[in-house]
Amino acid sequence: MRLSVIRERLAALGAQPLHQERVLRDWVQGAAHERGRRPASDFLPKPVREALPALDAELAGLVRPVSSHPGEDGSERLLVGLADGQMVESVLLPRDGVCVSSQVGCAVGCAFCMTGREGLLRQVTSGEIVAQVVLARARRPVKKVVFMGMGEPAHNLDNVLEAIELLGVEANIAHKNLVFSTVGDLRAFERLGQGRVKPALALSLHTTRPDLRAELLPRAPRLSPEELVEHGERYARLTGYPIQYQWTLLEGVNDGPDEMDGIVALLRGKYAILNMIPYNTVPELAFRRPSWEKARAIAAALHARGVLTKLRDSAGQDVEGGCGQLRARAGRTIAL
Ligand code: SF4
Repeated sequence: MRLSVIRERLAALGAQPLHQERVLRDWVQGAAHERGRRPASDFLPKPVREALPALDAELAGLVRPVSSHPGEDGSERLLVGLADGQMVESVLLPRDGVCVSSQVGCAVGCAFCMTGREGLLRQVTSGEIVAQVVLARARRPVKKVVFMGMGEPAHNLDNVLEAIELLGVEANIAHKNLVFSTVGDLRAFERLGQGRVKPALALSLHTTRPDLRAELLPRAPRLSPEELVEHGERYARLTGYPIQYQWTLLEGVNDGPDEMDGIVALLRGKYAILNMIPYNTVPELAFRRPSWEKARAIAAALHARGVLTKLRDSAGQDVEGGCGQLRARAGRTIAL
């Protein structure tokens, strides 16, 4: 269900924009279940009040937790069922964040990603995206939402931007704590800057070599790393927050001195943070994770050469932490 459809249905019952916002705000702030106890009668039109129980039930049925996988780092991976039986993954992050999925499957087909193996199955609607946040909020506080789960948000722009606007306006989440992640897409660069809520931007870089980028991200738009950084820099200046460049560190693939020189040439002096994330090895794929010591040395060397570099582990490493792995193995997960 799209948020715009919920608004239209409420409007058809006589709800003014203010009423629509109230209903949606109650949902994202987790207050829907308390409606019966609140004097909504003096605020919402009668037909809307009468329709609320059915709407609440419908919203509550958008997603359901299928299985939960707590990690030693304080994260919790959730396999989330959608109403039509499809499944996506959400990750509750250690410091009050949640990582949500924007598509079932993904068309980009990154060579190191389980989600990309099956192609795109369907879009996740704006209602289902927000419902992942509501589900996370029922388990712990959420002050940050990152769109880094399954899917390429730029391929589902209308739904993702609708969700971002609701989260930024009605869910009390700081705009810079909404993180739109993309492999780089001109439509996304154009529309992100026009929105009422301008999220932070994470760009998947992974290599400074165009030929290797084409191999690793086979169906990403053919933007060169330089073009990607140009667009990123423009957006960073527009919003006032730095671009987060993502670099999945793959042993023997993109962890050599040539790439490090390339990173320095591309990012030194830019309004940027480089997030270096050692790959989470999965048996099905040939890529390997470099040692943590090597990753730390690379990050320190880049930092010393003027690139603000953060070494991060993908949340839930110990619980099949790579994107798409839980879903791929749904058959042998523990049901909630
Ligand atoms: Fe899609 Fe992201 Fe996986 Fe690439 S890494 S295939 S963009 S989900």
